Amino acid sequence: MIELNYGIRFGDDLIIDPTRKQQTAVVSHAHSDHLRRHNRILATTPTLELARLYTSEFESIPLEYGKTYRFGKCKIRPEPAGHILGSAQYIIDYAGYRIVYTGDFKLSPNDTCAQARIHQCDILFLDTTFGRKQFNFPEYNYLKQRLAEFVDSCLYSGYLPVIYAYNLGKAQEVMKILGYSGFSTYVTDKAYAYAEIHRRFGVDITNFYSLNDTPPEDGAIILPPPYRYTKEIFPDRHKRTCFVSGWAINKKHCRIWWADEMIPLSDHASYDDLIRYVETAKPKKIYCLFGFKDIVDDLRYRGYNAVKATLANRQGIAKNILAELDLFGT
Ligand SMILES: [Zn+2]
Repeated sequence: MIELNYGIRFGDDLIIDPTRKQQTAVVSHAHSDHLRRHNRILATTPTLELARLYTSEFESIPLEYGKTYRFGKCKIRPEPAGHILGSAQYIIDYAGYRIVYTGDFKLSPNDTCAQARIHQCDILFLDTTFGRKQFNFPEYNYLKQRLAEFVDSCLYSGYLPVIYAYNLGKAQEVMKILGYSGFSTYVTDKAYAYAEIHRRFGVDITNFYSLNDTPPEDGAIILPPPYRYTKEIFPDRHKRTCFVSGWAINKKHCRIWWADEMIPLSDHASYDDLIRYVETAKPKKIYCLFGFKDIVDDLRYRGYNAVKATLANRQGIAKNILAELDLFGT
C-alpha cells in the first residue's frame, strides 16, 4: 500500500520526507521543512552533510544519483532535482508501478547543483510550489546579470547592497554568481558554513566572508528574509535592498514587498515547466504537493487525473493531512 500519511509511505518498507520524526527516513534535500530529527537518514551525501548543520545526531546512509537500492518490496533511485546542492527526485518501483516524487525541484539551470531531468511514471508526486500561471521566470543568465548589475550600481552610487536570500541554497547561489562577477559577499555564519560544504562538493564559490568577522567594504551583504533590522546593521551606511526569490515575480505574494529591487530567481520549477513535466512524464495520477490549486484545475482541464495533496498541514504541525490515502483505491 502507498499512503500519503505524514510523508509518502510504501508499506512498512520506506517513508520519504516524513513530517514527523522516524527511526529511518529517506530525505529529498536539506531544507528544514523537509527534514526532521530522524534516527537514521538515507539521502545523497551532500544532503547528509548539509543536514549535519541542522542536526548531528543521526546515522547516515548515503545514496548516489543514478544507483538503484532495494528496501523490502521497494526499489528506489535518486536523480538530480536541480533545487539545491544534493537535492533528489526519487524514482520508485513498487507493486508493479513506477512512482516519481520530485521533491522540491527545478528544471532550468542552477549554478550550485546538477540539472534535473523529467522521469516517466504511473504516479507522480509533484512539487507545485509555483502552480499558478504568473510564475514563469525570465531566463537564468538574464537574472544573474540583473543581480550583478544591482550590486554594481549600488556600489557605484555609494550604497551598501543588501540581498535577501535564504541561508541554504539561494544564499550560496547568489554568492557564487557575485563571486564570479568579481564582487565580495558578506554572509551569516550559517550561510558561510553551508558555502564551505558546497565548496567541498566542487561548487566554486569565491570571495565570501563571515559578516561577524569582517565588516563589509566593497561587496554585498546577504541576509535571510524576512530580516527586519536592516537599518540597525552598519547604521552609518546608506543601503539598497534586493529580494532574490521566485516569489519576487509578484509583490502581492512577497514577504519582502518593500525591497528596493526584486529579482525572481527561483529554485522551484516555473509553471510552464510543471506542465512540461506532466506532459512528458505522462502519469496516470498526479498528486500536487505545496503551492496553489490553479495547476490542479489546469491539469484536469488537460485530461489528467490530478488532485491537491499535502505531506502535512501548512503550519507543518502534521495534522489535517490526507491520511490513509490508498492510491490504488482512488
Ligand atoms: Zn526546498
